[in-house]
Amino acid sequence: MKKTIQLCNTRKLFDQIFSGCENFLFDCDGVIWQGNVAIEGAQKVINGLQKLGKKVLFVTNNSTKSRSKYVQKLTNLGFHADKEQVFGTAYTGALYLKNIAKVTGRVYVVGNEAMVDELNALGVKHFGTGPDNVVVTQDHDEIRSIPLEDDVEAVLVGFDGHVSFSKLVKSATYLSNPNCLYLATNEDHRMPLVGSKHVIPGTGCIVGSVTIAAGRKPDAICGKPGKFLFQCIQDVKNLDVNRTIMIGDRMDTDILFGNQNKLKTLLVMTGVESEESLQKASESSDPDKKELVPDFFMPSIGDWASMFDD
Ligand code: PLP
Ligand code: CA
Repeated sequence: MKKTIQLCNTRKLFDQIFSGCENFLFDCDGVIWQGNVAIEGAQKVINGLQKLGKKVLFVTNNSTKSRSKYVQKLTNLGFHADKEQVFGTAYTGALYLKNIAKVTGRVYVVGNEAMVDELNALGVKHFGTGPDNVVVTQDHDEIRSIPLEDDVEAVLVGFDGHVSFSKLVKSATYLSNPNCLYLATNEDHRMPLVGSKHVIPGTGCIVGSVTIAAGRKPDAICGKPGKFLFQCIQDVKNLDVNRTIMIGDRMDTDILFGNQNKLKTLLVMTGVESEESLQKASESSDPDKKELVPDFFMPSIGDWASMFDD
């Protein structure tokens, strides 16, 4: 049966969601900001919800900031937030290695400074970040000269602006040991760039390259729609799923995450999706597409700003 998706920028629907939910999980890019610019009215909504006693969490797949850096960015843009409200994948990747995999040895990281910060904060030993591009011709002697470390317990892949052929060689080599854990922060394909025709390839492009080179899929994804991220949230927040809503701009991460965890879901159109892509998913007979369909949609989170007028 086709799901009814309700447009929720009316007072009636807002009141229904407001009274039915105590927890509001916000995706960041494409929902509360676009790059470095806040979505108009988003601060009023987020600060207003918190003022009225609602719990707000920031749930982002972007691995390029630590929790403290997210708090800085949120604060600079006018959002009230503290570290305990932020669940980013630099943090959840480190949590997985520490608490689930319980690694004691070293982790090879295709990643960035934020991941380094979060791994250091949890005492996870790691190496590999930064520039590393010694291979230029694929000459076999050149490949043989790439230094390899022994006893690598896991490979963690996130966003890496220095991704290179050498890093692919190392990741695939470490992962040829079936006991070496393969973790990825997230698999977002690409990001929209407002005001430019440039396409931003997402971390999924880096993870995809490692996956093909290694001939294995990640053992776990630490972001949306993976299970582990919700487990991280529940370990500390213990949310009542029946009174929780996930608000996102992307169906294959945010909405799927919300639906799989039995949350209410709201799609906004200030990021990746459009009314056309929403309609296509909702009309699809493919059973896999069902889980991509939200309960609610609206053009922008800013459409709720007027609900918080004094
Ligand atoms: N990963 C990276 C590297 C990004 O730059 C972004 C968005 O800026 C994302 C993931 C998606 O983040 P979010 O889950 O907040 O939309
Ligand atoms: Ca997003």
